[in-house]
Amino acid sequence: MSPSTTGTDPDVLLQDVIDRNPGEPEFHQAVREVLAPLGPVLEARPEFAKARVLERLVEPERQVIFRVPWVDDAGDVHVQRAMRVGFNSALGPYKGGMRFNPAVTLGTIKFLGFEQVFKNALTGLAIGGGKGGADFDPKGRSDEEVMRFCQSLMTELYRHIGPDQDVPAGDAGVAAREIGFLFGQYKRITGTYAAGTLTGKGTGWGGAQVRTEATGYGLVYFVREMLAARYEDLDGRTVVVSGAGNVSIFAIEKAQALGARVVGVSDSSGAVHDPDGIDLDLVKAIKLQERGRLAEYAERRGGEATFDEGATPWSIPCEIALPCATQNELDAKDAKRLVKNGVTLVAEGANMPCTDDAVAVFQDADGVAYAPGKASNAGGVAVSAFEMEQNASRNGWTFENTDERLQTTMGQIHELCRRTAAEHDHEDDYVAGANIAGFLRVADAMLAQGVV
Ligand code: GLU
Repeated sequence: MSPSTTGTDPDVLLQDVIDRNPGEPEFHQAVREVLAPLGPVLEARPEFAKARVLERLVEPERQVIFRVPWVDDAGDVHVQRAMRVGFNSALGPYKGGMRFNPAVTLGTIKFLGFEQVFKNALTGLAIGGGKGGADFDPKGRSDEEVMRFCQSLMTELYRHIGPDQDVPAGDAGVAAREIGFLFGQYKRITGTYAAGTLTGKGTGWGGAQVRTEATGYGLVYFVREMLAARYEDLDGRTVVVSGAGNVSIFAIEKAQALGARVVGVSDSSGAVHDPDGIDLDLVKAIKLQERGRLAEYAERRGGEATFDEGATPWSIPCEIALPCATQNELDAKDAKRLVKNGVTLVAEGANMPCTDDAVAVFQDADGVAYAPGKASNAGGVAVSAFEMEQNASRNGWTFENTDERLQTTMGQIHELCRRTAAEHDHEDDYVAGANIAGFLRVADAMLAQGVV
């Protein structure tokens, strides 16, 4: 990094990041969000600039990129690119999911890894930040193809991971099936049952209760806290959720359990509007069991349910919007429409699903509370850390106990964001609160550990 960088000016540093990481707009976006509220913090704590904490924070500690060849059911050979980025280990071993999606690039994984550093810090648990993935498309692939791909990937990845080094989990395109195949190959190569090397394992063989539900449930617990701060609750609220993976499905489940009326859901094929309330069993059957498309929902459901091919759900009127699909899925136009239709709360279940401009619309609108994913979707990684804890102690917690701890953790993150925002003259601003609080926890640890 150029020696002229002062380290006290986040704008100069952001330009450096853009110059040094060309073609990675999502990474630039994630860095911009974290740096934005830090100016006064850095002025108050000059020791951070002296130790060049920020310059070190934006540079991953390590990045591994490797080839993953595999053979499909027809005997054809494919070559994928996989990677794992260890972003920051000041608070614990690198921790974060693996994403399988054809659009995955190093820039995607760096943005996710950077987010993960601060998200993990907000949980208060002993986990650093990392992320990985591959440009593999699991859609339409047989279980055997997915297994061969996972085995080939792990044949390189195994040497870089371990319970005290780097602990991968799932993310988009990686769930229990993939974690099972990855763990099996890790176990076979290393000859050890090091359960704490991967999280999101099956509950019958070392996985934590509630891990599957944790991101979605945690999101709704966070929303409940945001509402409580305004003396409101979820009962009778109209909710729209995007995405049809684990995050979205279990957010809907918990929102419905707490009395909300969920009327919209979507996947990459389009959006469902169901004024009678989403039939979650039907969504689960189509998405989790049949691995199908939501296009079938309206046909099978009947009643007033409609399906809008290729659409997002953001034109469906609601009070609470939960983007749970993917990065930059909700832009300024969507945000303006949501505000016009009366949205009063937006909380991110996905990582960075709102564009910068969309966030600005929500933050400028009167009476709209907006929570960034690094705070509101931290429940998934929190329960992953609980899984590590159980694996290390060869212990297992009940569903109820784990769910209770998840609720406590989400409450603590909410409280930390609000308190930190208030202390830094950003009252009610969850973005500033989350980024400042996450930064301070990581930065203090980095300072204490010297220039490494
Ligand atoms: N992929 C999830 C996230 O974005 C969870 C990662 C984990 O459990 O390690 O936070």
